[in-house]
Amino acid sequence: MMKSDDIEKVKQLLASPKKIAIMPHRNPDGDAMGSTLGLYHFLQLLGHEPVVIVPNDFPDFLAWLPSSETVKVFERDVEVGTRLLNDAELIFTLDFNVLSRTGDSMEAALKALTVPFIMIDHHQKPDDYAVVTFSDTSYGSTCEMVYQFIQGLGQGQLINKTIATCLYTGIVTDSGSFRYPSTTGTTHRIAAEFIDLGIDNSAIHSLLFDNHSHNRIQILARALQNMKVLSAYKTSYSSLSQEELNNFGHSKGDTEGIVNYGLSMKDIVFTAFFTENKDEGIIKISFRSKGDFDVNAYAREHFSGGGHINAAGGKSTLPLEATIQKFIATLATTKID
Ligand code: 5GP
Ligand code: MN
Repeated sequence: MMKSDDIEKVKQLLASPKKIAIMPHRNPDGDAMGSTLGLYHFLQLLGHEPVVIVPNDFPDFLAWLPSSETVKVFERDVEVGTRLLNDAELIFTLDFNVLSRTGDSMEAALKALTVPFIMIDHHQKPDDYAVVTFSDTSYGSTCEMVYQFIQGLGQGQLINKTIATCLYTGIVTDSGSFRYPSTTGTTHRIAAEFIDLGIDNSAIHSLLFDNHSHNRIQILARALQNMKVLSAYKTSYSSLSQEELNNFGHSKGDTEGIVNYGLSMKDIVFTAFFTENKDEGIIKISFRSKGDFDVNAYAREHFSGGGHINAAGGKSTLPLEATIQKFIATLATTKID
């Protein structure tokens, strides 16, 4: 829950109509897009002039979200993006904990601003850049926090089907369709309320998960073929090289969710998925775990990353094979149970 003095501060900041920029982390996922667009629709209803600015493109499988066509992509036109940020009188940063998660160019533009920031986020170790930091790792999604944020302001009656559709999306994607341990009775009660508001929950699941291209299925098949098991460490891993991705004509979002297959095997509690990105000169890594093994701590320690206990990410500037060898080498000194 939000602290009462934070609620008062937010109420004051929202007391008169404002130009408001709302942004998620780079490579935005379902929770990032759902939470920013949910908040966008809410702020519009309050009479503000909001705009969602994403650091880089969001995947096609989220392009049906209400008003996603109004979203501005900062790195597509840094000049326009910077102007939008400079025009903003208030900034909301959603679903991330440090400004560097917006990428180098957007981070620089954000750091130059002097207007107040409000953070809504569920990652560990939030940075101290906001006048209101609503940060709580016990929430399964930022979307659930936006719901609580709206309720905290006493504006729950404004939550309509459009807002609910956006927020339901992030609740579903970040909870692995209500299966991760962060899923609570409250999570289900909020989902129930959204269904009563008329969201088409079944259609949303289909749009999110039954919407793959043939290419994406072939990419999944290759990743499954590449899967290795290190049973002594209860660990599995897989990878896709840039060449493999190119051969299957990949597009953004095609690798989303593939990491979870590594955990779907019996007796495996830790999995990693490596994606080579030649454009950015990095290997992007996703980590997942079952139970108490903390992949957030692991990703921080070894791969300049972070996230949550059971889902985290990181990166490496070593070549793909060397990154995988480094990963294997860390296992000998990592307590996995
Ligand atoms: P994914 O593996 O789906 O990209 O990310 C899983 C979780 O870890 C998400 O909550 C995401 O925000 C976080 N995460 C992914 N990559 C990074 C990273 O490079 N740094 C940090 N701090 N968190 C990350
Ligand atoms: Mn999230």
